[in-house]
Amino acid sequence: PQGDRTPLIAGNWKMHLDHLQAIAFVQKLSWGLKDVRHDFGEVEVAVFPPFTDLRSVQTLLAADKLSLTLGAQDVSPHESGAFTGDVSAAMLGKLDVRYVLVGHSERRQGHQEGDDTVAAKTLAAHTAGMVPVICVGETAEDLETHGAAAIPLAQLAAAIAPLPADAEFVVAYEPVWAIGSGQAATPEQAEDVARALRESLRDLRGDDVATATRILYGGSVASQNVAGFLRQPNVDGALVGGASLKVDEFTRIVQFKK
Ligand code: PGA
Repeated sequence: PQGDRTPLIAGNWKMHLDHLQAIAFVQKLSWGLKDVRHDFGEVEVAVFPPFTDLRSVQTLLAADKLSLTLGAQDVSPHESGAFTGDVSAAMLGKLDVRYVLVGHSERRQGHQEGDDTVAAKTLAAHTAGMVPVICVGETAEDLETHGAAAIPLAQLAAAIAPLPADAEFVVAYEPVWAIGSGQAATPEQAEDVARALRESLRDLRGDDVATATRILYGGSVASQNVAGFLRQPNVDGALVGGASLKVDEFTRIVQFKK
């Protein structure tokens, strides 16, 4: 990262860990992170458990004043009403959720969520006082046809279109081919797209937003490769899937400066 942007290391648990496992996991993680934080200064660490875990994790974080931030993996685009199975942004806000993932490729692909849905969810999270973490990324096929940046840039522009000018959001660049594949992008590939995303934010939202917005890299991040990404001037953190489910490995990732 460059400038004043606080690095963000975010653990996306996906559909793993029930609420009892989540409690044990977060206790261990907070214990492991205690010393790390003194040595490494400002790094924000967030966990994104499944919906059914949020209440338990919230209670734990509040009781022990643990310095982890809570995120949710999804949100309804609707405010309230007859939407069986949906969870509203207001409900998440009541659980001290600060971040909400929107547009993850597993939602775009597995649940046919298009740019309009992602934009509606982005707005819903913002309106309820949370910070959307907007996931963008190209498939292997997109990469061949359009290059790396075109699809992520279009996805980002669509997602932030309904947001007011002063809205805070985080961008997560996750090449779809790198997610869960063990084949991460190179730090240079991540930096190229992150820089293009920041330049496009400058055009769309002005200098201040472009400079303040954190852009994360995601896709097979592990303790062995995280430092390379975080050394890039335009990469301000990591969105970690598989490696966020192991306490020791995730703790090493948070220690990326070592
Ligand atoms: P991965 O997942 O770290 O397991 O590749 C990243 C993500 O999907 O957010």
